[in-house]
Amino acid sequence: MREDDKGFRFYVGNMFGGKTAKMIFDLQRADYAGKKVQAFKLSWDNRYKEGFITANNGQLKYPAVSVPNLSSLEKSLKPDTEILAIEEAHFWDERLKEFILEHENNMLLISTGLQFNYRGESFHLRSPEDIQIDSKYVTVADLMGISTDVRQEWPVCTYENGKICGDVAYYPQRWREDGSLSKYSDDTIVIGAKNAYAPRCREHFVRPKKE
Ligand SMILES: [Zn+2]
Repeated sequence: MREDDKGFRFYVGNMFGGKTAKMIFDLQRADYAGKKVQAFKLSWDNRYKEGFITANNGQLKYPAVSVPNLSSLEKSLKPDTEILAIEEAHFWDERLKEFILEHENNMLLISTGLQFNYRGESFHLRSPEDIQIDSKYVTVADLMGISTDVRQEWPVCTYENGKICGDVAYYPQRWREDGSLSKYSDDTIVIGAKNAYAPRCREHFVRPKKE
């Protein structure tokens, strides 16, 4: 069977699960097949090198255009693009859903996204007016709902008690800078803040309680 070359392929899962690596493999394969590829990431996400989507601590990378928002991506989109990659769907604003629906009949869109936030709930996209405010309407689960090809990628739980747990880790545990567990009322995304994360299985994930 030939892979569908239109639609929306969505790699979802936890951090450290290999979502971005899988997307980069797809893009390299598309290059090899002679397809016209464009890849985008948000410009404030510069944890690794600007100008690349990176995975596996920067060892795997693919050239990408950094843009500040979805409108800039739309302006940079070429009419003959066949494969469009959008890194980290959960960081974009909620208009991403309409954008995907508008373009999925003309190209293959590929994106990555966190299924759960540190509260163990579906990740909300951002409000277009203020990217630090959660959208009331669009979550990663909604994007999974419009995807024609959802692929889940999970890391292993790194909880250690003598030996590493190693079970499937669905949830990202988050700690504050002072080493305490993040509380439910903390922001879901704090841009520029250094929170610590680790992947946790059902047993070892401590779900923050609603206060
Ligand atoms: Zn575990």
